Amino acid sequence: MGQPFFEFINDDRGVYVCKTCGTCLTGSKHLYSTTFTGQYGQAYLFNTVVNVTKSAPMQREMSTGNHMIRDVACKGCKKTIGWFYEFAYESEQVYKEGKYVLELTLISLRKGIVDQKGGNSQCYL
Ligand SMILES: [Zn+2]
Repeated sequence: MGQPFFEFINDDRGVYVCKTCGTCLTGSKHLYSTTFTGQYGQAYLFNTVVNVTKSAPMQREMSTGNHMIRDVACKGCKKTIGWFYEFAYESEQVYKEGKYVLELTLISLRKGIVDQKGGNSQCYL
């Protein structure tokens, strides 16, 4: 497998990082909706997220209907931090396809220069 590749994010409104290990996940400009509910409470929907791995697709029945999703785990600490919408069966839910939900309690917003010395990520803003 070799070394995991970590991408850099540049977003002047702040970047979202993994609360556990500080790996950069996404930027504020990729935030699509703040009104989602995750396993641990409030969750955010993002257009794109980097530095994560996805599980095999699985069916999950949610309050908004049946979806094909993949669990999303941080590349830095391997912790599951949300999920990815692979496919939505209900036509009004199709906008979620290809987007990511991250649990708010497992991520944090950082501003300024974040330089994770000895860690896995560097975020320059
Ligand atoms: Zn992490």
